Amino acid sequence: MGSDNAGMGEFDLIRRFFQRPVAAGAPAGVEVGIEVGVGDDCAVLVPTPGARWLVSSDMLVEGRHFLSTVDPARLGHKALAVNLSDLAACGATPRGFTLALALPRADEAWLAGFSRGLLALADASGCPLVGGDTTQGPLNLCITVFGEAPPGRALLRSGARVGDEIWVSGRLGDARLALEVFRGTVVLDGAGFEAVRAAMECPTPRLALGQALRGIATAAIDISDGLLGDLGHILAASGVGACIELDALPRSATLAAQTAAWQRACLLAGGDDYELVFTAPPGVRLPDVGVLLTRVGRIEAEPGLRVVDARGEAVAHGLRSFDHFAS
Ligand code: ADP
Ligand code: MG
Repeated sequence: MGSDNAGMGEFDLIRRFFQRPVAAGAPAGVEVGIEVGVGDDCAVLVPTPGARWLVSSDMLVEGRHFLSTVDPARLGHKALAVNLSDLAACGATPRGFTLALALPRADEAWLAGFSRGLLALADASGCPLVGGDTTQGPLNLCITVFGEAPPGRALLRSGARVGDEIWVSGRLGDARLALEVFRGTVVLDGAGFEAVRAAMECPTPRLALGQALRGIATAAIDISDGLLGDLGHILAASGVGACIELDALPRSATLAAQTAAWQRACLLAGGDDYELVFTAPPGVRLPDVGVLLTRVGRIEAEPGLRVVDARGEAVAHGLRSFDHFAS
């Protein structure tokens, strides 16, 4: 601990960086929101009568999920964004989150940046910080988000049906391309690098899209470990197979300028995209929430996931999704 922050104990730290007045945030006439936030033994949340709670946790470990040099405000944003992305995938409306934080030391500049990025996204998403835990230790961030959906309306992995079309939001692969620049395996010019770096460090959770897809999409998931693996989870849960067209996969101009092999790797098995992949019956009207939607394939009865080119020929890729415990 440096001399400028000597004396900032655990409770000062929580009060200064993570405790803010709780705005109830309830729609008029509905008693929904946060009755008690940070500061007591438990937060007290008021749910929408009859709604279902949707709850998800994601942990970010230094050196594993982020580089130690990352801007703390971007890290705060990303820690919450990856959690909100799970709510988006299920079509949930965010209601609040908790933050469990292990910090090597109470670094004021770092905490100020981190909480600024974190709370800006919380405000923009209507998802207040309601509690957490703070301890000394190797840098580790664990967020749990709470959201709501009407009964029977959550988007699950298990609803894809043969004949459904497969859609992807936004563009895939930029986050992985940025990681490869950091690794030194790909070289980009300054502007190209900043664009893909923002995709890696500052993902946008597709909350409005997820909520708008309630009752329209038959299955959905967010792409955190790569399209092949995450779409594979939908196929497994739904008991179906699929065919996707490599050339149809949406990509940035920066990624489109890379070799065919890098494009394939980043698009199919990139990871950290935080876009949604979902299925919907053909001809159904999709919501326009200002996010690019691209049809990339179709659900089939034959098990497995086939990748084809624009002429319908099989693409051999040898790729698989990211797995923390795979050798
Ligand atoms: P307890 O010992 O009862 O678990 P703590 O001393 O851990 O309580 O935390 C005190 C209060 O501060 C609690 O309301 C807790 O939810 C909140 N809190 C602790 N750490 C954080 C954090 N990183 N972000 C938000 N709230 C936090
Ligand atoms: Mg505690």
